[in-house]
Amino acid sequence: MTEADLIIIGAGPAGLTAAQYGARANLSVVVLEQLAPGGQALLIDVLENYPGIAPEKTGFEFAQDLCNQAESFGAKFLMEEVKTLDKEADTFTVSLASGQKLSSPAVIVATGATHRHLDIPGEKEFSGRGVSYCATCDGPFFKDKKIFVAGGGDSACVEAQYLSRLTNEVIMVHRREKFRAQKALADRVLQNPNIKVRFNTTIKEIKGSQEMGGKLSSVVLAETCPELDAKPASPLTEESADAVFIFVGSVPQTSFFADSLKIELDKTGYIIADSGMASSVPGLFAAGDVRVSPFRQVVTAAGDGAIAAHYASAYIDKLKGQTY
Ligand code: NAP
Repeated sequence: MTEADLIIIGAGPAGLTAAQYGARANLSVVVLEQLAPGGQALLIDVLENYPGIAPEKTGFEFAQDLCNQAESFGAKFLMEEVKTLDKEADTFTVSLASGQKLSSPAVIVATGATHRHLDIPGEKEFSGRGVSYCATCDGPFFKDKKIFVAGGGDSACVEAQYLSRLTNEVIMVHRREKFRAQKALADRVLQNPNIKVRFNTTIKEIKGSQEMGGKLSSVVLAETCPELDAKPASPLTEESADAVFIFVGSVPQTSFFADSLKIELDKTGYIIADSGMASSVPGLFAAGDVRVSPFRQVVTAAGDGAIAAHYASAYIDKLKGQTY
């Protein structure tokens, strides 16, 4: 069993910032990440709104810098999937996919959230064959093609904007009559000649060739969404399409510990944490997109990480009977 003062699960901007602050506070810090350090920040084409970073950087460059900075202060990284997180008395135990176990008195969960699905016919079947959840990863495959974008939040607007540099046929489909996105992002989309916006519209089905390797060829649209209002649905229309990019929000990643720790979550599954990022489980802190928050940005995730590490350090001191 490897012992540490502080285990951080997830190496996005929240986890990496927590790692830096924890290591600088002289804690032995282990960061666990199942993919590459950076989290969703890796997918950011241009990080233009992080204070002090001007000229802008790519999300990849930013993530690399955060990672190097945390490592330079002594944080250790393990690239492995976490299977379970349990707590007995004052000690947390983390089990990894390899079978290795780690323990610590405090844990910061910074696991973020994964993309939500539309759950419509054809979405799963054409995933990777025209359906995508990442414009910077898959957009270049659809240069000069007809691309549909589903969603009306910040992600949909930012990603549609990116796709509009690859083709002049981006069609945004949003189920309401106006965007949920920040005004600055929404206005850019509305003024972009390469993006057509269809409000009050939903994608009902994604169609294409069912053969192995076959591609997506059309979407079925409905003008109104009966789930959202009492109006009857308009007749369905079918339109040709080469790709569908889906940005309809996210689902927090808490499944590997929510039940075992009986942690308090809100009704959509996000961790409820106080202003010191403490969850309902003593010693367990939450930072970034995995916790309840009215505003999710790279900068707020980093802020969460710093606060979580600060209070985790204070919690550990208190456990050891040290008060400074
Ligand atoms: P979001 O803000 O939750 O928006 C999700 C969008 O998808 C909403 O417009 C929602 O519609 C729509 N939607 C949800 N379920 C749907 C369904 N089943 N069918 C059709 N549409 C559906 O999610 P997000 O855009 O991914 O943003 C997540 C967080 O990251 C936000 O806090 C955001 O501010 C932040 N973010 C910030 C930036 C930036 O600052 N540059 C960039 C990306 C993300 P309704 O409006 O009807 O609910």
